[in-house]
Amino acid sequence: MSYDEVMRLALERGFYVPSCEIYADAPAGFWDYGPVGTAFKNKFVELWRREVLRRDEMVEIDGSQIMAKDVFVASGHLENFFDPIVTCTKCKTTIRADRLISEKTGKNIPERLSDHDYDSLLKENNVRCPKCGGELGQVSKFNMMFKVGVGAANLDTYLRPETCQSIFVDFPRFFKIMRGKLPFPMAQLGKSFRNEIAPRQSLMRLREFYQAEIEIFFNPDKVNDVEEFEEVRNYPLRLMRGEDTVEAVPCEKAVEQGLVPSRFVAYYLSLIQQFYEKAGIDLNRFRFRRLAEDEKAFYAKVAFDVEVQTSLGWIELVACNDRSDYDLKRHSEVSKSDMTVLDGDVKVLPNVFELSMGVDRSLYCILEHSLVKEEKRDVLKLKPQLAPVQVGVFPLVTKEGLPDKANQIYSTLKKEFQTTYDVSGSIGRRYRRLDEIGTPLGITVDFDTLKDDTVTLRERDSMQQSRIKVSEVLQKVRSYYYQEAQLV
Ligand SMILES: [Zn+2]
Repeated sequence: MSYDEVMRLALERGFYVPSCEIYADAPAGFWDYGPVGTAFKNKFVELWRREVLRRDEMVEIDGSQIMAKDVFVASGHLENFFDPIVTCTKCKTTIRADRLISEKTGKNIPERLSDHDYDSLLKENNVRCPKCGGELGQVSKFNMMFKVGVGAANLDTYLRPETCQSIFVDFPRFFKIMRGKLPFPMAQLGKSFRNEIAPRQSLMRLREFYQAEIEIFFNPDKVNDVEEFEEVRNYPLRLMRGEDTVEAVPCEKAVEQGLVPSRFVAYYLSLIQQFYEKAGIDLNRFRFRRLAEDEKAFYAKVAFDVEVQTSLGWIELVACNDRSDYDLKRHSEVSKSDMTVLDGDVKVLPNVFELSMGVDRSLYCILEHSLVKEEKRDVLKLKPQLAPVQVGVFPLVTKEGLPDKANQIYSTLKKEFQTTYDVSGSIGRRYRRLDEIGTPLGITVDFDTLKDDTVTLRERDSMQQSRIKVSEVLQKVRSYYYQEAQLV
């Protein structure tokens, strides 16, 4: 499906809408999740917790969004977290210089060139303002962090541009409290903030967004000594080879051939790929792309991006970085606190491997991969465990006691499942509404119900209908969600 069709669905059904939309001064890059979108997001996060965190026995924290300035002195964000920008001398529009050049040349332009280099590239390629054709000014740097003045003293602090900084700062304390052993994975789901120059395409580039980050603290001398590797030895990782091909390479082979640097990394890449498969991403449009030297962050030893193909092109959903000991080293230097821990009897400063996931983009990609246009309907074929509404209950008509009967069934189901009760419009239209928000099961009470105490159970994807006894409804829905749905 196209971006426009996903947007239509999002706006009409309330997955997400622009923030502050009734006001003319609403800034771009901020979106609100509606009732259906919030439930969908929560389900996605629950799946991540179940399939990645619990599976690997990770601990989860929830850190504050405003953090001390020194955190970002240590992390390097105050010094390095800039976008190169350029302003049109005529219409005063401000645009990212690197993006302008790459759009004009069709080439990937590195993010960390000097202002002077960007200026020369703009000149060489004769780039002008995309809005009015005017001449561009000089390139300058723009720090993408939101500064916040705290308290009456207006103390300089920042909204975190990535959630992982809380994990690094808190690591020594929680390692101790949890009686941790390396490798020690810590996870966090939360908001991050980046003052993007050009937010765009709704959930794709936001200024306020959800990240689900996992930071695994490990001893770099033990990266091939991973017990859990047995589970994934033959699991095929979808690795990008060459310009445009993806090859499914079993984890063990991928390590032997040097496509993935260690068993440790292969194991975590496989966890994230399995997670997306369960979340409903089409694996034929999924790949790990190993970043070239000039693409990765300066502290990263190895970096893979999870990319998913959509109507907007390949979208980066997860950054998988070996961050070396950069983070703990810097925080221990700037804070003057000891960040080493014991691994057995040996004192080590752990290295960090991270799986940094963009939640909003992931949700978009799942919607796009799940939305299917059929002859008579649009249907959102979400995996059952991600369905915002799990079951719908309808009386065929609003008379002769049918609503009473339907209401009884609704009251029973809603105690255990996200259930909707709908009486408005024809039965066909009510099914369409359920189909568009991805509800797998619909139950209809009709005149036969009054005679033989049975209802119609309709399944979303096949549209098959079967008659079941009212007394069996709860059991049927339970077995669907607790057994069949778990197998997908
Ligand atoms: Zn202009």
